[in-house]
Amino acid sequence: MNDSVEASDFSAIRIADVIRKKRDGHELSRAEIAHLVDGYTRGEIPDYQVSAWLMAALLRGLTRAETAALTDSMLHSGQVLDLSEFAAAKVDKHSTGGVGDKTSLVLAPLAAAGGLVVPMISGRGLGHTGGTLDKLESIPGFRVDLSIARFREVLRECGCAMIGQTAEIAPADRKFYALRDVTGTVESPFLICASIMSKKLAEGIDALVLDVKTGSGAFMKTEQDAVFLAELMVETGQRMGKKTVALITNMDQPLGLRVGNALEVEECIEILHGRGPADLRELCVELGGWMLHLGGRARTAAHGKGLAVELIESGRALKVFRRMVGLQGGDVAAIDDPSRLPRARHSLEVVSAKSGYVSAIQCEGVGTASVVLGGGREKKEDSIDPAVGVVVHKKVGDRVSAGEALCILHYNSGTRAAQAKQLIEQSYRIGETPPAPLPLVRKIISGGAT
Ligand code: URA
Repeated sequence: MNDSVEASDFSAIRIADVIRKKRDGHELSRAEIAHLVDGYTRGEIPDYQVSAWLMAALLRGLTRAETAALTDSMLHSGQVLDLSEFAAAKVDKHSTGGVGDKTSLVLAPLAAAGGLVVPMISGRGLGHTGGTLDKLESIPGFRVDLSIARFREVLRECGCAMIGQTAEIAPADRKFYALRDVTGTVESPFLICASIMSKKLAEGIDALVLDVKTGSGAFMKTEQDAVFLAELMVETGQRMGKKTVALITNMDQPLGLRVGNALEVEECIEILHGRGPADLRELCVELGGWMLHLGGRARTAAHGKGLAVELIESGRALKVFRRMVGLQGGDVAAIDDPSRLPRARHSLEVVSAKSGYVSAIQCEGVGTASVVLGGGREKKEDSIDPAVGVVVHKKVGDRVSAGEALCILHYNSGTRAAQAKQLIEQSYRIGETPPAPLPLVRKIISGGAT
């Protein structure tokens, strides 16, 4: 129950009126928003009414006051952790969602190896983007549904733990998130802000690094929209007394080369071994540098980057990852030998129709191809296939010959593979000259603080 609004305030509120009021573009009161969040979290308001409200909110937008009220109600739908028993700074990172966007699996153990505590609450796949929880669950046995007591134990043992929204922490986001995934209501900066910040503020952290994606594979397609979302979240974090910084980063092509749950875990293990694709490694080092800086382990973010490189190259980050996987019930042997991770039965090359350079990738199409293969959900009840996905062979700027593979699909269903193949073919643009390189980090939003 929300602390800030008394239950008696709800007696006169009818949810159908709340939906109509938002539909008509009026501002909702704190009590109306709290009623919606509490009622839905407790199972008293059905999915169909909340779906209608979410669509109205997406189309009409929310005011700053409504966004703050939604974030607060979602935050207080469960417990807000007090981790003051840990002497080290508590720092987390969260991404707004992308394709092949897997940095959390590297960054939680990296920052923990650097002396921080990382109490990470993540989400599942959302729309065409992958989710950290689905990726982690592709490690056989890995549990993301730890009790708070066990979450604390894992944090004490290895400095990081990675779980989902539970009945105890951020239960409202658990329900809203799953509904938004399948009702076309993800792409609202206000709903994204409330979803991310309610989870993060429930973690008991001191500082937060936000990776706000922009481009064809992001929810915020333009840099202007990404900056708007970043400012909204930085403002929310700072209002709650947390050091908060957002990096606006490129999502005009998949990050790294692998898209799909087990495939992405394998790529993270590569990075933790000091190998793997340069763009993924660069972003992990950049975000890790900021985490270490905000957590007081590095004088500047640039120093933090140097420390992040050292934590990877010394094998210390990998050691913490192995330990966390074991503590959360996962098969550590699969980390040592990734061929033990789930594997799809079949693979299919998607080839280029002509020779030239990859001039652009419609990145959402690559994410959707992975969802279509079974890596994401079309309906709330769907289970996912951890083994399937897309391995990218050509990125923007690469030279390609006619008949050469652009991507390889890993699949278990032929019908799904045929659909995914078409999506990949439609996503690649081949030109005669190489395009200008895409910068990975476009802007840093710190709200005046660093
Ligand atoms: N990540 C979240 O946790 N929530 C969103 O709404 C989008 C990305």
